[in-house]
Amino acid sequence: MENRMTVIFDAVTDNEAFARNTVAAFCVSLDPTVDQINDIKTAVSEAVTNCIVHAYPSNSADNKIQITTTVTEDSVHIVVSDTGIGIADVNSAMQPFYTSKPEQERSGMGFTVMESFMDTLTVENNVPTGTVVSMSKAIRGADWKKKKL
Ligand code: ATP
Ligand code: MG
Repeated sequence: MENRMTVIFDAVTDNEAFARNTVAAFCVSLDPTVDQINDIKTAVSEAVTNCIVHAYPSNSADNKIQITTTVTEDSVHIVVSDTGIGIADVNSAMQPFYTSKPEQERSGMGFTVMESFMDTLTVENNVPTGTVVSMSKAIRGADWKKKKL
């Protein structure tokens, strides 16, 4: 059985904490460990920050971020999307230390962090209509399944 929620909000820094805490709260039904919740919050934070920093070159009330979170019996699937400029070369963008904004002292580690804190990460190249980042993580381990049986 799946349980799903979608939020759409303005792509502004003030909403980064809202985004990570909202997704974390939705995952509580899976009974995650504190470490797992922190991993999810970190990954969501990186994805949302990317939308805020990179997707929209100019300010507009139309600059939105959408997050859909799907919880299954033993995993969470998170899709973070924007309707911004998109990523011309996804393979390069996903390399550690690659950043298009070195002048802003970005380290180019956002995708690497998402990849290491989640089990799967895919980035869709939708130039010029935006970016879709999908991530998933198994939450309940073998112990929980054994207990359930
Ligand atoms: P850091 O995350 O360490 O602050 P960064 O954001 O540059 O630095 P990544 O998060 O790994 O590093 O992203 C790599 C590059 O991918 C970015 O520099 C940017 O060019 C591009 N990018 C990432 N997300 C988006 C997005 N939502 N829209 C457009 N470009 C993006
Ligand atoms: Mg980043």
